[in-house]
Amino acid sequence: MEENPKKIFYMLIPVIVLCLLVYSKHKKPAVLVESGNIIVMNTIAKITAVAKDEKTARAAIDAAMKEVKRLESLMNRYDPNSQLSLVNRQVDKEPMKIDRDLFEIFKKSIYYSELTDGAFDITVAPLIDLFRACAEANIPPTDQQLAEVKGKIGYKKILLDANDFSVRLAAGGMKLDLGAIAKGYAADKAVAIMKNCGATGGLVDLGGQIGSFGTTETKGKWMIGVQDPANPQEDKIIAAFALSDSAISTSGNYHRFYTIAGKQYSHIFNPATEASAEALSSVTIFADTGTAADALATAVSVMGAQKGLELIKKLKNTEAIIIVAESGQTIKTDGVEKFLAN
Ligand code: AMP
Ligand code: MG
Repeated sequence: MEENPKKIFYMLIPVIVLCLLVYSKHKKPAVLVESGNIIVMNTIAKITAVAKDEKTARAAIDAAMKEVKRLESLMNRYDPNSQLSLVNRQVDKEPMKIDRDLFEIFKKSIYYSELTDGAFDITVAPLIDLFRACAEANIPPTDQQLAEVKGKIGYKKILLDANDFSVRLAAGGMKLDLGAIAKGYAADKAVAIMKNCGATGGLVDLGGQIGSFGTTETKGKWMIGVQDPANPQEDKIIAAFALSDSAISTSGNYHRFYTIAGKQYSHIFNPATEASAEALSSVTIFADTGTAADALATAVSVMGAQKGLELIKKLKNTEAIIIVAESGQTIKTDGVEKFLAN
């Protein structure tokens, strides 16, 4: 009687082995589907999904792209119909109820302002508008113009109320610009949606602002390259990286800048001094989320090498590669090594 369970077990071994063999033969490999290039959020976006079959992968891509487009229609301040434009036009500055995602990104923006001692600040919009107008007129801003703008800048004047998801801008002429964080936020939302749709891996690339999860169809990490700011036309990369469940963002002066009276100005500004941030030609940040990578890449561009690296070293799972504009020197935090593709 005592031997019976053992006997049954041994008798079942061939059956178990057979089942495993049949299973492995019939289990289809995961498939990888790419969206192709799509213009959204003022950039070229590409989403890649890995799933058990093509239908699932395509559904994940479609849902993620739809979400990115929805976020763009909320957060694009150059679209007069976006909710952000409504907030920016609040003439009487009464509290305005807003979409949860807009509320959430404002909240996160204030968090990164506090973390970076104001280097990151979405209230820089009036300063950007001033430089844009100056670039059109080809005349540098005057001290008076800069002084006028100064009173409109300051993240502490964004008043959020979590009870009714409303926002109020506390000073006249204030405007918000989400250009430094919206793509990272959208990449995070796209990743979450793809997971919900059953994708087992994915790469969301919103113009170099990249979020990733899981693995490729061959169970590998996601390979990406970071462009060399010294040779932007040549599409040269400074290094190739392997990502999985992490995000990467690069802020740089090489694609977008203003030219006024023959002088180039970065599109990133120091909210405290109102000067354009010129010290670093490129800042790449690795982080757990796209929101963190995007916000911190912009912030470190403003903070410069020393202060910027001090901050990054204090943050968990966060690494940086910076290129100093004048010397061309590349500085990496120690943890960058683990992302290098070999
Ligand atoms: P990114 O490419 O992510 O570094 O974002 C740059 C964009 O963010 C600029 O084109 C501006 O629209 C906006 N911006 C510029 N300076 C700042 C700043 N100090 N904090 C937040 N947003 C900024
Ligand atoms: Mg950014």
